[in-house]
Amino acid sequence: MYEKLTAPAKGSKITVAEGRLVVPDDPIIPFIEGDGTGPDIWRASQRVFDAAVAKAYSGKKRIEWFEVYAGEKSLKVYGENVWLPDDTIAAIKDYIVAIKGPLTTPVGGGIRSLNVALRQVLDLYACVRPVRWFEGVPAPVKEPGKLNVIIFRENTEDVYSGIEWKAGSVEAAKLIEFVKGLGKNIRHDSGVGIKPISKYGSERIVRKAIQYAIDRGLKMVTIVHKGNIMKFTEGAFREWGYELAAKEFADKIVTEKDLWDKFEGKLPAGKILLNDRIADAMFQQLLLRPDEYEVIVTPNLNGDYLSDACAAQVGGLGLAPGGNISDAYAVFEATHGTAPKYADKDVINPGSVILSGVMMFEYLGWNEVGKLIVKGLEGAIAKKRVTYDLERQMPGATKLKTSEFASEIIANM
Ligand code: NAP
Repeated sequence: MYEKLTAPAKGSKITVAEGRLVVPDDPIIPFIEGDGTGPDIWRASQRVFDAAVAKAYSGKKRIEWFEVYAGEKSLKVYGENVWLPDDTIAAIKDYIVAIKGPLTTPVGGGIRSLNVALRQVLDLYACVRPVRWFEGVPAPVKEPGKLNVIIFRENTEDVYSGIEWKAGSVEAAKLIEFVKGLGKNIRHDSGVGIKPISKYGSERIVRKAIQYAIDRGLKMVTIVHKGNIMKFTEGAFREWGYELAAKEFADKIVTEKDLWDKFEGKLPAGKILLNDRIADAMFQQLLLRPDEYEVIVTPNLNGDYLSDACAAQVGGLGLAPGGNISDAYAVFEATHGTAPKYADKDVINPGSVILSGVMMFEYLGWNEVGKLIVKGLEGAIAKKRVTYDLERQMPGATKLKTSEFASEIIANM
């Protein structure tokens, strides 16, 4: 029972059995439209999704969309200060898979960010960001097509867990004093933060990344860390990652050491190479030898930086999708913000939410739908019929509105 939501009369629930999703032909999927440019983006995206599903399955499957609220729209429906109503959390828990547009981060109040709050409440521990180039998209590097990676960023720990105190506060002073008792010195006028990285948190993200590589027939998983400096956090992340792989995926994984010691540098058929790179070196590697990497798994802060750097390398954030996934729930989302200056102007690029939808359809096992959407998007870009952000960088391109771009994608499916 919801306070203010009414689930669609038609459609069925996605369920989980033995750790796997069971997806009906008419799943109900909750969506959060998003603030600012969110409504323009969502209208366009939903048309693209429905058209692709209809084309893929000739009416045998369909999505029943269920609007749930967060952000500014939630204030209108639920009243002052209710940025993230319990209804929304309950609906995502009930229906398991959801998708959202960008949300305004409330200024003041108790919530740091609605996105962070959603991740925490639902324990969406894996932030999954695939980064690839679409032919024709202007990019700052010579061969953007060589980068095609999927980044698994740990979402709940590290310096992002919000355990920090301002310089001069009572708490900072106490902590500095405590650390002094352990024989370590921190300058008295320091702000202090804590960087927790647990075995539990490290294992579950590495497990998810390896399982993803297995499911997709990929050949390489790379642990990215700064363990040479932060030995007991980032270094431990690396160690626990290798241990987990040896324990749970021994028949599938070959480490870089074994590759040379036992297999003369040639990966045996059907195996996955598990290696690791130090974070700073990885930024170089992804620029210089991007085609040597496939799946990347990394703690929170590295993952944040790497995702945006990779997205920039292939032409920017307007086309970068993301998903936040736990063992139970998944919320797919735009990776950009609300771009409020373009709100209700029907100009913004809906590509990030549309490609997040592709991830969602793949997650549901509806791969045909994802393929059609990608084909449509590639077609629109190849014809240089794109939104302003791409048009301004593509000589000879035609500038389309958000809604027109959606129609163009549909026409090219
Ligand atoms: P932003 O909304 O991402 O916008 C910054 C600039 O990025 C825009 O002015 C635009 O650049 C470009 N851009 C963003 N989305 C685009 C799209 N779909 N297509 C084309 N260009 C796009 O960042 P912000 O202005 O810093 O943040 C605004 C609000 O969003 C804040 O409240 C912030 O907290 C929130 N936010 C939410 C999320 C999320 O929900 N996941 C993420 C980040 C920020 P040009 O003007 O150069 O065209």
